[in-house]
Amino acid sequence: MVFYGKRSSRIKDGRISNVTCPSCEENTSMTYSIFGKYAHIYWIPTFPMGKENSIECNNCKQTFKVKELSESIKNKFNLEKQDAKTPLWNFSGLALIACVILGIMYLAKQDKINTAKYIETPQFGDVYKIKGSESGFITTMKIIEVSKDSVFVSYNNYESDDYSMSKIDKAENYNTTDIYGFSNKEIKEMFAKKEISDVKRK
Ligand SMILES: [Zn+2]
Repeated sequence: MVFYGKRSSRIKDGRISNVTCPSCEENTSMTYSIFGKYAHIYWIPTFPMGKENSIECNNCKQTFKVKELSESIKNKFNLEKQDAKTPLWNFSGLALIACVILGIMYLAKQDKINTAKYIETPQFGDVYKIKGSESGFITTMKIIEVSKDSVFVSYNNYESDDYSMSKIDKAENYNTTDIYGFSNKEIKEMFAKKEISDVKRK
């Protein structure tokens, strides 16, 4: 269950003077408050939802909406309202979401850069994610020896329908009796053809 809703915060208070109250008809002053409404998710302000005003006659204490007031009072109030800006913290939830998305994008990009680097310079212990025997399945092969221009790998005895390698990438799962060799060029080609889709290096 997600808790969300609407809240408001006071942005500005003030006073407008020399106005005639539509209710008591006195020449008096009025006190106003401007509130910023905002949506929250779990009490984290997410985005602003406009403003609300309250205007009170200091003589008869009647409160008014802006539209109930005369043009001259409206104009005075609108001048006061100009610098009542929506506070930036009303957007904190959006900023937080943007940061999380940017963070995920950054990590994904970093991961891609690392994978390309690992393909270029294979190392002992590198684990390649490769296609399984059926579509939707993956398995792995692990480098157990590196020579000048080729690598030697053992295949995993297991396949997984999970896109994560960690479930099957266990030392005891590798068939260490059958060793296969690939040239570095072949490894690069397999990566280019997406037969190798990821590389894990410890
Ligand atoms: Zn009044």
